[in-house]
Amino acid sequence: MSERKQSHRKVKLWETEKLPIYQHKEKLVQAIKNTSCLVVTGETGSGKTTQLPQYLHQAGFCKHGKIVITQPRRVAAITVAQRVSQELGCSLGSEVGYQVRFDDCTSKDTVIKYMTDGCLLREILADPELKQYSVVILDEVHERSLNTDILLGLLKNKFLQARGESSSRKVPAKIVVMSATLETNKLSVFLGDCPVFTIPGRMFPVSEMFCNFIGPKDTESSVYVKEVVKMALDLHTSEPAGDILVFLTGQSEIEKACDMLYERAESIHYPYDVHDRSVEGLLILPLYGSMPTDQQQMIFQSSPAGVRKCVVATNIAATSLTIPGIRYIVDSGFVKQLNHNSRVGLDVLEVVPISKSEARQRAGRAGRTSSGKCFRIYSREFWEKCMPDYTVPEVQRTSLTMVILTLKCLGVHDVIRFPYLDHPEEKFILAALKQLYQCDAIDRRGQVTRFGQLIVEFPLPPNLTRVLLKAAAHQCEELLLPVAAMLSVENIFIRPGHPEKQQEAELKHKQLATEAGSSNDFAVLLSVFEKCRASESPSAWCRENWIHWRAIKMAFSVEKQLTEILTRLKQNPDFPVEKFDGHRSELLRRCLCSGYFANVARRSVGRTFSTMDGHGSVVHIHPSSTLFEQEAKLEWILFHDVLVTSRIYVRTVCPIRYEWVKDLLPKLHEVEAHELSSVAREEVTDKEITKWETKEALKRGVATEDALK
Ligand code: ADP
Ligand code: MG
Repeated sequence: MSERKQSHRKVKLWETEKLPIYQHKEKLVQAIKNTSCLVVTGETGSGKTTQLPQYLHQAGFCKHGKIVITQPRRVAAITVAQRVSQELGCSLGSEVGYQVRFDDCTSKDTVIKYMTDGCLLREILADPELKQYSVVILDEVHERSLNTDILLGLLKNKFLQARGESSSRKVPAKIVVMSATLETNKLSVFLGDCPVFTIPGRMFPVSEMFCNFIGPKDTESSVYVKEVVKMALDLHTSEPAGDILVFLTGQSEIEKACDMLYERAESIHYPYDVHDRSVEGLLILPLYGSMPTDQQQMIFQSSPAGVRKCVVATNIAATSLTIPGIRYIVDSGFVKQLNHNSRVGLDVLEVVPISKSEARQRAGRAGRTSSGKCFRIYSREFWEKCMPDYTVPEVQRTSLTMVILTLKCLGVHDVIRFPYLDHPEEKFILAALKQLYQCDAIDRRGQVTRFGQLIVEFPLPPNLTRVLLKAAAHQCEELLLPVAAMLSVENIFIRPGHPEKQQEAELKHKQLATEAGSSNDFAVLLSVFEKCRASESPSAWCRENWIHWRAIKMAFSVEKQLTEILTRLKQNPDFPVEKFDGHRSELLRRCLCSGYFANVARRSVGRTFSTMDGHGSVVHIHPSSTLFEQEAKLEWILFHDVLVTSRIYVRTVCPIRYEWVKDLLPKLHEVEAHELSSVAREEVTDKEITKWETKEALKRGVATEDALK
């Protein structure tokens, strides 16, 4: 590194030299030189993510290609890249950069590249041999995210293949798989008995207490938010100095908890209420995925003398990011998780109890630099009855649709016998194939269609891509691109915790909905997008209207990127064009129908609706919708997503007409998932295809039962 750069270092060398990994630098680099595939394990915070890529850089690994490090979480990829660029004294996006969905901060100089696992998976589509990399590091493998698991399988395939044919380079020179201490043996066996390098770590004892505020029945967020706030304040006034880390579920709960903390912390009389006279203030810092990155950086700064830091975070603080100075943990016992809900037939974001292993990991965060304490707000009964031993890997609990399509595009045809670290149930694979078939991404032989190839070009779920392509065919993409962008970012409506402010925000949001001119949540999103973009000062406009400026700014950027992809595709002379004369509002909804026909429901009894996808679930319109309490006027509706609490709610809703989906709905029942097991292996015979066709003809009444035999 040059001297000029040395002087730009914002991080003192000794800070990184104190990390456990530093002692093992030479041995670790040597181990990677000696083998083509290595598993590296060590406690969280030992320096794997931030240091190892730098060691490899120093050892000259970047001469033949870049080093890429995957992260399951977008925020982790960004903040870690920031940190490493500071440590190296270079600007972010030069030698060190990151790439996450919709945000590429790299340049031709980038040699250390942090990336989400999803982005690398997409990149493999364009460059199956990952030629530009000399080292591929899969990080946070213990999190068992869907994309990381799939990457593992793909690399295993290529790696074992390449060992067979030593001359031609089929894999990046080196593969490093990094994981916290769980399951390393299983990983090594999976990767053909590759060596494991363990970074010995030191952990201080953490005393773990059950505080009994939450029992097996208390799953309402209002309960656990209140209890963690109370616990954190109790702790602040009674325990000696040391920072607090509170684990909560998501952005809205975290914002509520922080609002409550700000308010109550103000009424503490220092130093009289506080047991430890050396702490006289509480610095409250939220930490969640969609937060501004400069704010995220604040959590890493040590608190001023006499002030105690209290970070209120999602699970991101459990392993992906290590916050220095933490001595106390307040554990809510819950996490927000994407699960496939078989009752609804869709993936839904649910608040569920964490696993026992996750709870231990959370507690461990208090014992990194000295002994600590973990306060679990739940009871032992909750621990025993509600918390599973381990977290189920994502591949076994969410929709595999995009992953299966990606695999098929990569030429992995037998998606059932693909090497999964933990095999998903076959019915999930078949359900994914059914969905791909329904949206015309694969044909009856299981082969990717032209349309399927278009779908993988878009970093969006298939149904939204279909909507966009329809809109482009109708030449009205200016209506749907903003909608797709708004649906791809976090919730844009601010819901403050304070009751008075909440009322004010709700009033503003109602007004925005009225100004949108129709009872249609998608149209409201479009109108908010257009209004904000047209305003003189978009950020001031957002403040005034209780809209998240950061989320909308992100939506602007997403819209721009989607426009670029679409413009490129439209240059193809074969791009379909359809004529439509009609009202803007109808056009918008008709385009939505072409992608969301599986998310359609019909009015049933009272205020309920019944879905059309064969599950026939009874659903309610969510109170946040502009259509809430207008159910009596509605017959058919289309919705974007589902929220499951004691009821099934549909969110982001618009009214539609049956004629618009009439021709699409039969597609939902044309082929049953269990009929697709040969498609999964691409072993469909002509006989089977004839059978389906006959069955369909039968439904239409043009064939006889005999034809089926
Ligand atoms: P591991 O990957 O083994 O869990 P990391 O490399 O993520 O460890 O972290 C090593 C150290 O770097 C931790 O002590 C952490 O606090 C520090 N660190 C990581 N990111 C940042 C950051 N953005 N700002 C300041 N310190 C950071
Ligand atoms: Mg790490």
